[in-house]
Amino acid sequence: MNVIVCAKQVPNTNEVRIDPVKGTLIRDGVPSILNPDDANALEEALKLKDENPETKVTVISMGPDQAKEMLRECLAMGADEAILLSDRAFGGSDTYTTSNAISSAIRKIGDYDIIFCGRQAIDGDTAQVGPQIAEKLDVPQVTYMQEFKLEGDEVTVQRQLEDGYELIRVKTPVMLTAVKELNEPRYMTMDGIYRAYETEIPVWGIHDVDVEPAQVGLKASPTNVYRSFTPEPKGKGVMIEGKTNQEKVDSLMARLKEKHII
Ligand SMILES: Cc1cc2nc3c(=O)[nH]c(=O)nc-3n(C[C@H](O)[C@H](O)[C@H](O)COP(=O)(O)OP(=O)(O)OC[C@H]3O[C@@H](n4cnc5c(N)ncnc54)[C@H](O)[C@@H]3O)c2cc1C
Repeated sequence: MNVIVCAKQVPNTNEVRIDPVKGTLIRDGVPSILNPDDANALEEALKLKDENPETKVTVISMGPDQAKEMLRECLAMGADEAILLSDRAFGGSDTYTTSNAISSAIRKIGDYDIIFCGRQAIDGDTAQVGPQIAEKLDVPQVTYMQEFKLEGDEVTVQRQLEDGYELIRVKTPVMLTAVKELNEPRYMTMDGIYRAYETEIPVWGIHDVDVEPAQVGLKASPTNVYRSFTPEPKGKGVMIEGKTNQEKVDSLMARLKEKHII
């Protein structure tokens, strides 16, 4: 069985601030990490490998050269191969063109049974790339996977909802997006770390995959970020005082009337 995991290197958003003038992320000095949902996606792939050592897990990422660091972490966790999609021509891609490039790379890898993605990346936050990859490869997709079972060529997925879950059965090949409730990602092992630094990470550029320059990059991206900003902090809340509940209710009603809310 061949399993592909799409993993994105993201800035650790706990430490990211937005430049108030330019409206862009201040990335300087911010450590980059494996996108958390993608760690869950990788863990599920590695569990399949634990059950059947013949399973091959390939991790693919599109990003700058420094994403190799994150790919080495994936290798150290137990992935067999890692591929970096990197080219100036991919720069400025929105989700549509990102998924054009990634789906072409997956087509080049060829023989795959399951594509695991994270539900969403913590920087872009759109949750669009996984579903778009599935569309472009013309394979079924199940998003928000919180439980996964494989029997033969049939996958049973619990799909997380706000107030419950859906149980979905689907045949491979399939694209699934993972949420954090799916599993607890494993740590890297010493052996894995050693192997990760021995393993060559091929870099595929635009000429290595079947995409035209007109399908990737900033110019080909149909969406544009018009502005990003941090919302102004709201003013301090008002505490409704009163000795009894009735006094507090009366005070609240008086304020609501004063503001013509009721
Ligand atoms: C107009 C526009 C211009 C942009 N320009 C730039 C730019 O110049 N530089 C830049 O870095 N970003 C840029 N971005 C952001 C970039 O489009 C997104 O980072 C990227 O498309 C992924 O979207 P997302 O972060 O919302 O991922 P989501 O859709 O939330 O991710 C879902 C899942 O898809 C997979 N995935 C997503 N991205 C990747 C990836 N790169 N590699 C492997 N798997 C992935 C992961 O499994 C992830 O968990 C731009 C976005 C827009 C809209």
